Formats: sequence, structure tokens, C-alpha cells
Amino acid sequence: MSNTYFDMVCEKILYSKEDIENKVREIGEKITADYKGEKIFFISILNGAFMFTSDLLKHINTDCEIDFMQVSTYGNSTNTSGDFKVKKDLSVDIEGKHVIILEDILDTGYTMEKLLDYLKIKKPKSLKCCAFIDKPQRRINDVKADYYGFVMEKDYFVVGYGLDYDEHYRNLPYIGVLKEHIYS
Ligand code: IMP
Ligand code: MG
Repeated sequence: MSNTYFDMVCEKILYSKEDIENKVREIGEKITADYKGEKIFFISILNGAFMFTSDLLKHINTDCEIDFMQVSTYGNSTNTSGDFKVKKDLSVDIEGKHVIILEDILDTGYTMEKLLDYLKIKKPKSLKCCAFIDKPQRRINDVKADYYGFVMEKDYFVVGYGLDYDEHYRNLPYIGVLKEHIYS
């Protein structure tokens, strides 16, 4: 298959389509096993987690609900800092429910920390966090992913599979390192 546009964007593929499929299945099976017999309420964080969410839910072999939130943290296109705002809130009440947040990347952890504080007030029965990619070396707090896909030891800025640079490249079917000339 010729992939001219895709090839132009990334200098290397970090996680291929196959790597992603296998990892998503693994997470889905683990969550299914852990929540056996319990109903799960997923909160998918837009926009980054949309692809991960749709793939993961096909591997959740137990009763579940899904809702979406969109939040913003002040920052430029590659960094997060200060100021947390809920741009799209939940449509239903999560009190007494087993909640799992689905995020694309846990980077500094700032967004997740604020989100956890925001959701705890709504009294869920349990509250966990699932991040497809974890960048632990970038963390500025003690937020940990209860479930994660890939742990990225090197501090690459990655795009694809829902992840963007300045709202672009979410459509790549793999996760890759953006070519330097695109962001410099
Ligand atoms: P945090 O608040 O620093 O943990 O930032 C989390 C958000 O920053 C993620 O949900 C992403 O939208 C974005 N982000 C962090 N690292 C990357 C990356 O390597 N590529 C694309 N987006 C990223
Ligand atoms: Mg983003």
C-alpha cells in the first residue's frame, strides 16, 4: 500500500498498527477481568482518546456505559501548564458508579490531577485512570495510571492514533515521532 502522506509526517514509527491492536486488546482483557460482574462507566477525554476509546470498548466484555468530556489546560501545542477548564461536561450523573477515565497520554499529569479532583466531588463508587501512553519521566505530581498501554521512556513528542500536533495528524493509523522540520 502506498502511504505517501503518512510517510511525509513521521521520522519513525514508534508503535505500529499491529503493536497498537495487540496492546488495546491486552488492556481490554485486563479491565474485563478486573471488573467481572460490575458495570463500568467510561469517561473518554476528547479529542485525543477517541480512537483508543472506540477500539478499547470492543474488547470490554462486560456491561458498560460511555460518556465524553473535553477539558483544556493552558499551554502551547507541545506543553501543558496551569489553568484547567471543562469545555464539555458529562451528560449523566456518576455518583455510585465504577468510573474509568480514558486518556491518550499521561504526560506531566497536570490534566489528570485536575480531572480526578473534579470527578471525585461527584462521588463515584471508584475512580481509575487508563492512559494509552504513559510518559513517567515527565510527571510533576504523583498521578499514576491504573491501566496503561505503552510506557515511553524517551521524551518524544508523538502523533497519530488520535494524538495531535496543533490539531493535525490524529488520523495516522500508528503512533510516530513527528519530523522535526514540522514543529521547528
Ligand atoms: P499533561 O497534562 O501534561 O499530562 O498533558 C496531557 C495532554 O497533553 C494529553 O492528553 C495530550 O493531549 C497532550 N500531550 C502530551 N504529550 C503529547 C505527545 O507526545 N503528543 C501529543 N499530545 C501530547
Ligand atoms: Mg492535544
